[in-house]
Amino acid sequence: MSKEEIQVSLGDHLFYSSSKYHTDATMHDWFQTTAYAVRDRLVERWMKTMQRYYEKDARRAYYLSLEFLVGRTLSNATLNLEINEQCKSALYELGQEFEAIAEMEADAALGNGGLGRLAACFLDSMATLDLPCYGYGIRYEYGMFRQSIENGMQMEHPDNWLRYGNPWEFPRPELLYPVKFYGRVVEYRHEDGLLRHHWVETDDVMAMAYDTPVPGYGGKTVNNMRLWAAKSSRDFELRYFNQGNYIQAVADKNESENLSKVLYPDDSTEMGRELRLKQQYFFVSASLQDMLYRYKKNHTGWAQLPDKVAVQLNDTHPSIAIPEMMRLLVDVHKLAWDDAWGMTSRIFSYTNHTLMPEALESWPVAMFELMLPRHLQIIYEINHRFLQQVMHQFPGDGELLQRLSLIDEGGVRRVRMSHLAIVGSHTVNGVAALHTELMKSTIFADFEYVMPGKIINMTNGVTPRRWLNQANPGLARIITERIGKGWLTDLDQLQRLRGYAEDEGFWQQFHAAKQANKERLAGLIGRQLSIEVDPASLFDIQIKRIHEYKRQLLNVLHVITLYNRIRAGTHPDIVSRTVIIAGKAAPGYAMAKLIIRLINDVAEIVNNDHQIGGKLKMVFIPNYDVSNAERIVPAADLSEQISTAGTEASGTGNMKLALNGALTIGTLDGANIEIREEVGAENFFLFGLAAEEVKALRPRYDPLAFYHGNAELKQALDMIASGYFCPDEPGRYAEIADALLKHGDGFMLLADYASYVACQDKVGELYRDPQEWTKRAILNVAGMGKFSSDRTVREYAERIWHVAPIDTQTEQGKANG
Ligand SMILES: *Cc1c(COP(=O)(O)O)cnc(C)c1O
Repeated sequence: MSKEEIQVSLGDHLFYSSSKYHTDATMHDWFQTTAYAVRDRLVERWMKTMQRYYEKDARRAYYLSLEFLVGRTLSNATLNLEINEQCKSALYELGQEFEAIAEMEADAALGNGGLGRLAACFLDSMATLDLPCYGYGIRYEYGMFRQSIENGMQMEHPDNWLRYGNPWEFPRPELLYPVKFYGRVVEYRHEDGLLRHHWVETDDVMAMAYDTPVPGYGGKTVNNMRLWAAKSSRDFELRYFNQGNYIQAVADKNESENLSKVLYPDDSTEMGRELRLKQQYFFVSASLQDMLYRYKKNHTGWAQLPDKVAVQLNDTHPSIAIPEMMRLLVDVHKLAWDDAWGMTSRIFSYTNHTLMPEALESWPVAMFELMLPRHLQIIYEINHRFLQQVMHQFPGDGELLQRLSLIDEGGVRRVRMSHLAIVGSHTVNGVAALHTELMKSTIFADFEYVMPGKIINMTNGVTPRRWLNQANPGLARIITERIGKGWLTDLDQLQRLRGYAEDEGFWQQFHAAKQANKERLAGLIGRQLSIEVDPASLFDIQIKRIHEYKRQLLNVLHVITLYNRIRAGTHPDIVSRTVIIAGKAAPGYAMAKLIIRLINDVAEIVNNDHQIGGKLKMVFIPNYDVSNAERIVPAADLSEQISTAGTEASGTGNMKLALNGALTIGTLDGANIEIREEVGAENFFLFGLAAEEVKALRPRYDPLAFYHGNAELKQALDMIASGYFCPDEPGRYAEIADALLKHGDGFMLLADYASYVACQDKVGELYRDPQEWTKRAILNVAGMGKFSSDRTVREYAERIWHVAPIDTQTEQGKANG
């Protein structure tokens, strides 16, 4: 691990892995070389970890997720292995700069937003906590689209992230499982005397494993993320080859391999596409076959299966795992239904991520019948037994049964995937306290009634390794100087910073670190977007997917209000602000895309108006992804968390920003509530209606009353509606104005506007007192201990998975575990 050893390794890899001399190596060669040299240092611990889990016959937790939004790995791996400094100087002596090399890496963007990033933070925490956990997902050939902005509009480009190869993955061509689709079910009497089922005449696709090492901090445990790629089955090929139709055979091979081609870029609406259900079943079936194979290697019989295997479903996306487990146990391994169900319902647990009805997955029964006929039968059987049981417990309530049923009988019959996930799981969790309460009182109230106690809360968290140590080395350094580096694995230690909030020296350093981050971001904005922003201005930042419920529009209304005030000269001592927004819109979400365009049009007018005198700038940073988040988050003064109360399940962006010393302006929504509790109400800018107030107002809500009652609001909306920001096409934003004024303003922007603007005024005032601002920022960082994903994952491990840490590296661990 010394600099010298790393240098030897770099030299070897440059020559033998990239076959280049120093003189003709490209930056990409250097990236690959460095990645291989670092990877070598992971492999031994990784193999040891896997070996030790096997020897200890550890109970394992499997995290099934259709998304893992990992981002880059090189810096993360060197920091977690604590070889960052050695790597830097080894490269420096070879004439290379580590930071520039790290910039060559493509993000692994195998996710949309919060849900996928949560899965990636969890993997980091699982390994750091030495927990025997595996991530299972899909190796998409194309991840989340790259966003560019052309004439103010979002353009989507394919994310060909594997183009130059991926040095972190290990293909396992020998690890293949068949996954069946279509076909029909044959009932037969088995030798055990029971009626059993064969699923025959199927189209098969092969799932091939690609493994990626996941190092924990300190590098003791290196866990595995196993992603599946679709490969055509030999049978499939031979059928055509034997018919002599070579070209058709190759074309069809491509078709079946399309399964793992692309990530669906929709994060909060379910499109109900056949390929999506196929992707779900594909990775679930391969993952369960793999788990059962691993179990079978050192167990006889199935009785211990639920003692050895815990499976977490990240949202309903993998909930087809429940009938698939039943199929594997009953049809393939010939268990009796009751035994199989007893095991299955001890194995699974399910995390819900949203209350929004349009995001709750359901599939047409007809689609299931065609694609997964045996699973539909199993779902019917699960449903029948479940409803029987409810009927006995709560006799005479037919409507309750209809509401609970796994099948939605209203209109075209559909399978309700969340109901399947709840019925088949021993524990269901929400992702923040409010979200869990709302789950119990609204969407899943009937389940709370018939199975009280099944739904529990697990407030989300983020990994402080990536989101503070890696993203913000300047702040990380001064924190470590004061309180040591224990915070990296025990984030509660940040509390000790409270003692430094009044310390002039620390205050200066903290302020300087923030300023340096802002200058770096300002430089980036200047170079990439040719917009000059003042690093001394208040950096007011909203970064997240673009969605109506997240209310980027409310932010825009505030910007227009500030613009009007500055032009009118009514607020001469207004504080200078740079409002930064970033985020992708789902390609099919027209309103979200229109909001992006409005942001860019408003920015164009505001940034180029000489009357504004640089007091206000608005910037839309294109292509929000993990790497851009790492650049933007450390530079934030103000974190915008302004969703309509009751709509954001948790949020994790809110945590990253507060952890990096941003003050939050936010509603009582999702984890904002808990952040406010932890950092202190006096260090949090609260505004807007609470969830119960939103609920109470909704039936009698009249947005026009707010419009007519507030002159600044009316002026801002009139400017949007009349085409002030798009003189070349005045009607461009009529739809936005209509959504708010004529179609009911579903997310109640107008109701919260006055409160938001008043709160922003307080933000501006406080910012004029840098000492007080910085003190509160320090208290925010100090209060963020709870929001480490280590805390979250430990809670899952203790309360849901019942898995314990394993000593993976020492001889003593080998003896005792
Ligand atoms: C953290 C993160 C998110 C989630 O942000 P929210 O504000 O919680 O919606 C989305 N995308 C990326 C790239 C992230 O890093």
